Amino acid sequence: MDSDFLPFTRPSLGEETVSAVADVLRSGWITTGPKVAELEQALAAYLGGERRVLALSTGTAALEAALAACGIGAGDEVIVPAMTFAATANVVLRAGARPVFADIELETRNLDMSRLEEAITPRTRAVMPVHFAGLPVAMDALYDIARRHRLRVIEDAAHAIGSAWNGRRIGGFGDLVCFSFHANKNMTTIEGGAISVGDPELLPVLERLRFHGISRDEHGQVDVTVAGGKMNLSDVCAAVGLLQLPQLDTFNARRRALATRYLERLAGDVPGVLPARGNEGHSWHMFTLLLPFAELGMARHEFQQAMRRRGIGVGVHYPALPDFTLYRELGHRAEDFPVATRVGRETVTLPLFPGMAEADVDRVCDTLRRVLEEAA
Ligand SMILES: *Cc1c(COP(=O)(O)O)cnc(C)c1O
Repeated sequence: MDSDFLPFTRPSLGEETVSAVADVLRSGWITTGPKVAELEQALAAYLGGERRVLALSTGTAALEAALAACGIGAGDEVIVPAMTFAATANVVLRAGARPVFADIELETRNLDMSRLEEAITPRTRAVMPVHFAGLPVAMDALYDIARRHRLRVIEDAAHAIGSAWNGRRIGGFGDLVCFSFHANKNMTTIEGGAISVGDPELLPVLERLRFHGISRDEHGQVDVTVAGGKMNLSDVCAAVGLLQLPQLDTFNARRRALATRYLERLAGDVPGVLPARGNEGHSWHMFTLLLPFAELGMARHEFQQAMRRRGIGVGVHYPALPDFTLYRELGHRAEDFPVATRVGRETVTLPLFPGMAEADVDRVCDTLRRVLEEAA
């Protein structure tokens, strides 16, 4: 791949991170220790200082731990948007429960709150909204529905570190809020995740689930009370996160500026649906756009190939869940979720990361126009 290939995302990591990692490696303590504790405190302070935050090995582990802490399992239903990353629904199946899909809105790609309410049954225990691409879901409506139906809310905030709703940071309020720090997310620990916990009673439960179910008495003696997992973060990873977090607001401001330029450059003459502009609280994890491939007489993979040949990486986030074999075989039907299905088939993700220049956005837009003209 040539050096001016523009991938759809790339982490921003400087030499100071390389040194910080080297320091941890030399310290003799490389797994969960002081750096993880420091990161947990820094995250809690960043989110407003009112809640505890637990670091975990991945965002997926955070979702799994949240479901387990709520006691969700066989016979329970959890409502998930019909278009999201596979992890959001897979974790529900892995907990032994049933994912029930609800359709999304076209412009925001977020859970449609009227569809959410329709999907509730007497078996529903929780809802797992996704703040898609960092645009917060309608939090008032969500928590109002959850309260009325006595549902737990497990927010999949994998895209939403640094997002805010009505001036409050996502994860600074709400029930169980799960973040991912995978390399592609708005801040990274290489692999990693965290849960911001609203209900203090769940804290000791989550701590045990995170590490083999182990608890200690006042003499430091070990007991095991639950079949916990192995979901702790390492200090090497935490050291990376400790240098990312202070830059997060700057990263996200840069994402916003680049996304705004995309919207300006693409408005008007590109067929399809641009993402919602969002508001001040949008962290612009991704810039996704819907292209009417059927009308264009072009397959999405052909579009991706054409862009790639011209040096631009284009992602797909995400096919609708009912379009995957696993969920189709479980009886979920694409036609029941027309918006998610359309988004899943038409969506493309254009490059967006803090290290990009304005000229990169212009190059993507010019190239996209040329590729679409050639298809016509
Ligand atoms: C990345 C992601 C996850 C999983 O996070 P990992 O840290 O990769 O395990 C879950 N949900 C969504 C929507 C994601 O984008």
